[in-house]
Amino acid sequence: MKVEMMTVAYIGATILFILSLGGLSNPETSRRGNLFGIIGMTIAVVATLMGPKITGVGNFVNIMIAMGIGATVGIIAAMRVQMTQMPELVALMHSLVGLAACLVGFANFIDPSPTTFSAAEKTIHEVEIYVGILIGAITFSGSLIAFGKLSGKIGGSPLLLPARHFLNLLLLIGVIWVGRWFLHAESISAGMVPLLIMTVLALLFGVHMVMAIGGADMPVVVSMLNSYSGWAASATGFMLSNDLLIVVGALVGSSGAILSYIMCRAMNRHFVSVIAGGFGTGTGKSPAKGDAAGPQGEVQPISAAETAELLRNSESVIIVPGYGMAVAQAQHTVCEITKLLRDKGIKVRFGIHPVAGRMPGHMNVLLAEARVPYDIVFEMDELNDDFPNTDVSMVIGANDIVNPAAQDDPDSPIAGMPVLEVWKAKTSIVMKRSMASGYAGVDNPLFYKENNKMLFGDAKKMLDEVLINLSK
Ligand code: NDP
Repeated sequence: MKVEMMTVAYIGATILFILSLGGLSNPETSRRGNLFGIIGMTIAVVATLMGPKITGVGNFVNIMIAMGIGATVGIIAAMRVQMTQMPELVALMHSLVGLAACLVGFANFIDPSPTTFSAAEKTIHEVEIYVGILIGAITFSGSLIAFGKLSGKIGGSPLLLPARHFLNLLLLIGVIWVGRWFLHAESISAGMVPLLIMTVLALLFGVHMVMAIGGADMPVVVSMLNSYSGWAASATGFMLSNDLLIVVGALVGSSGAILSYIMCRAMNRHFVSVIAGGFGTGTGKSPAKGDAAGPQGEVQPISAAETAELLRNSESVIIVPGYGMAVAQAQHTVCEITKLLRDKGIKVRFGIHPVAGRMPGHMNVLLAEARVPYDIVFEMDELNDDFPNTDVSMVIGANDIVNPAAQDDPDSPIAGMPVLEVWKAKTSIVMKRSMASGYAGVDNPLFYKENNKMLFGDAKKMLDEVLINLSK
C-alpha cells in the first residue's frame, strides 16, 4: 500500500474513532459507537500491516503470530470474565498499554539501524523515548495496583507513608535529574543506566500513587489510569512516528481526563489535587474493610411479601441499583418488577449515581442489557429533589452511594461525596445480604433510620420472591 493510501486510511480510521467516542456518550447510540470503533480499528490495523513500514515476509509473519497470540488471550479473557470482574480486566488492559510503551521505548533506544538525525532531532527523539517510558512505567505499575485493589487482592485502605508528598517530590526531582544525565549520555550503553534508573523510579511512583488512594476514591484512579494509558499510547506514536497512534492516544488520553474531571465532581474532589497525585485521603479516618465498621443501632428487617405489598400500594417508586445488583445479576428481575409496577400505573424511575458499581456507567450497562427503558433512568442530580415526593425508594445492593454520613459526618472517608438521598422518601428499603459495609468500608446510618427497612438476602433471590408476590 502506498503512503498516500495509508494516510487516507488513517484519516478514515481517526474519523471513525471520533464518531465512536461520540456514540459511546449515550446508551441509545452506544452500539453504533462500538461498531464505528471496531471498523476504525480494523482499517487501522490492516492499513498498518499493508503499509510501507512492514517490509519482508519474515516481519509480517512475526506480527501475525504476535497478533494471533494476543487475540487468543483477549478472546478467552473476554469470554471468561464476569461482568463484576470487568473493571479489573480494564485495569489489566491499561497496564499492558503502559508495558507496551516501555518496551517500545527501550527497543527504540537500542535500535541499531542507522539514523539521519540532526543533533536537535536526536535530542527530541530521546526526550520522546524518555517521556514515553516514564508515562508507560507509571501506567503499568499504577494499573497493576489498581487491579489488585479492585479484585480485593490488595486491601482498599490507603497506604499513608510519612512525608508521602515529599517522597513524590523527591521522585519527581530524581526523574528530572536522571533525565538530564540520559540526554548527555555519549553512547547507548551509557544512556541505558539512567533510563533503567528512571524506569524504576517511575514504577515506584505508580505503585505509591495508587496505594495512597482510599477505597471510595478508586473511581477517579480508574479513569485517571484510563487517561494515562491514552497518553502512553500517544507517546508510543511519537517514538514510532505513527500519526494514527498519536491521534488515537490523544483521544483516549483527553477523553479519560474529561471522565476523570466528571468523576472528581461526582466525588466532590478537586481536579488539580488529583492531577498532583495528593488525593483521596483527606483528613478522614482510614476506612475499615468488610463489616469491621460495626453496626450502630437497631434495624427493621422486612420480608419479600411485605416489600411487594409496600410497592403495590405506592404511587411513586425510585429504584437505586448498586454493585450488589451486578454481583447478584438481578437486573432482569428488576426489569420485570418495573414492568409489572408500571402496568399497574405506578410511576417507577431509576436513580443512577456516577460512581455506582465498580466502573463508570456500570449500572447503565446492566439496565440496558435487561432492556429497562432509557427514559426512566435518571442521573443522581436529576432525581435527588424528588425523593420527598416518593413513596418507596428501593436500594438494590448499593451502600456507599446512599450513605447519609457523606453529608452528616465530616470525619467520614466519604465526607462531601454527593449521595442519593433515598432516606427522604416515605419508606426506604435496602436490599443486601448482611450488615457489611460497602467499598469504602464505612458504616451506613441509613440502615438505622426509622423509615428504613432491610430486606436481607441475595438481591436476585429476594427480588424473585418480590416478583412472585407482586404477580399474585
Ligand atoms: P458498595 O460497594 O458501596 O456496596 C455494595 C453493597 O452490595 C455491599 O454493601 C454488599 O452488602 C451488597 N451486595 C453484594 N453482593 C450482593 C448480593 N449478591 N445481593 C445483594 N447485595 C449484595 O457499592 P455502591 O454501588 O453503593 O458504591 C460503589 C462504590 O465503589 C463506591 O465506594 C465507589 O467509590 C467505589 N468504586 C466505584 C468505581 C466506579 O467507577 N463506579 C470504581 C472503583 C470503586 P452485603 O455484603 O451485605 O450484601
